[in-house]
Amino acid sequence: MIFRRLRIFLTEIAFEAMRWNVTENKKNSQRLNTRSVHAGFSGDPGTGALNPPVFLTSTYAQESPGVHTGFVYARTRNPTRDALEAAMAELEGGTDGIAYGSGSAATASIIQLLDAGDHVVSFDDVYGGTRRVFEKVFARQGLSFSFTDLTVPGAFEAACRPESRLLWIESPTNPMLKMADIADLSRRAHARNMWVVVDNTFLSPYLQNPLALGADLVVHSTTKYLNGHSDTVGGAVVTSVPELAESLRFLQNSVGSIPGPMDCYLCHRGIKTLAVRMERHCSNALEIARFLETHPRIQRTRYPFLKSHPQHQLALTQTRGGGGIVTFEMNGNLENARRFLESVRIFALAESLGGVESLIEHPAIMTHASVPQKVREELGLSDTLVRLSVGIEDVEDLKEDLAQALEAAY
Ligand SMILES: *Cc1c(COP(=O)(O)O)cnc(C)c1O
Repeated sequence: MIFRRLRIFLTEIAFEAMRWNVTENKKNSQRLNTRSVHAGFSGDPGTGALNPPVFLTSTYAQESPGVHTGFVYARTRNPTRDALEAAMAELEGGTDGIAYGSGSAATASIIQLLDAGDHVVSFDDVYGGTRRVFEKVFARQGLSFSFTDLTVPGAFEAACRPESRLLWIESPTNPMLKMADIADLSRRAHARNMWVVVDNTFLSPYLQNPLALGADLVVHSTTKYLNGHSDTVGGAVVTSVPELAESLRFLQNSVGSIPGPMDCYLCHRGIKTLAVRMERHCSNALEIARFLETHPRIQRTRYPFLKSHPQHQLALTQTRGGGGIVTFEMNGNLENARRFLESVRIFALAESLGGVESLIEHPAIMTHASVPQKVREELGLSDTLVRLSVGIEDVEDLKEDLAQALEAAY
């Protein structure tokens, strides 16, 4: 018995060492490319395996009632998930990462930190599903939400109420690529005792670190750039506030919106190439944005690293790159847009974003169909607005594809 306990004790130490390695992993001394490759796992202590094992188990044997390795039941904890969570925490510069079965589950968990009666101030142009869960699910449960254009001076304060508890930022937004000044808004929200959340899905931790700018929580749909290969759905939250980490961990176990171990493994594998993928996404997107900006059929192109972007200066100070999303308005009408979208050959006509392959979509009909038409009009989601998720292919091929589809559209 004593030996079995000793073995358990040693296993526990090995796992803790693995986790310790993870969070302490020479931390800020390493640069981003190195961290992307090594974050969250420094080798299996038992075998030396370079990659985290996929633990396909729902439960763990105990040596004696209550005597266990720290792993009791897989909703509560799974070593493959531990490794992904540690990687997320490390890349976002937080103490705690918490993984979810989708970005939407991560979003919902954050709102579940609040109590009935609480109020949330949200950027107006947030992901369509975020607005939907706020208004169609949580508004029924006694929470209230105000949507405001955080690029307008004074708009945040005007939206605040005595019961405001949370500021929800997405920057840049989807699909209009509006940016919020995270550092400035964090200071103003903290002065009102509000928590600040940033949805960092569009840029990934490689290009923007909201916690370093003052936010309390950063949320990701890992479905997009972090996993990067369009083959899993997942989400994550990272924080350094102990009270928030503890509550989110409690909710993760109580509500149970966890990712499976295979998805955790795939997402973690995707993260290893995050840095090189993001470099290519950024350079391809910038070149395509410049190409579209001068194209006679295009009315207006939006990309944070174009000089014409209204918040170009903020983009240069707050982020390390413009990301892979380009939004533009074509000349003509819905019919022209439809023909254009049907004519692309390399770009796949599909929702989602952030994978290695280029995607194209029509926000008003596709991703943002759940946003009420009146709100769509206010936000500028017109019939000729098109969103690209620029992949990592040869940029000349992508430009040629857009050029021939624009020819075919009129
Ligand atoms: C996709 C997305 C989400 C939702 O994530 P899922 O993984 O699809 O549930 C949230 N925010 C943004 C910005 C997204 O692009």
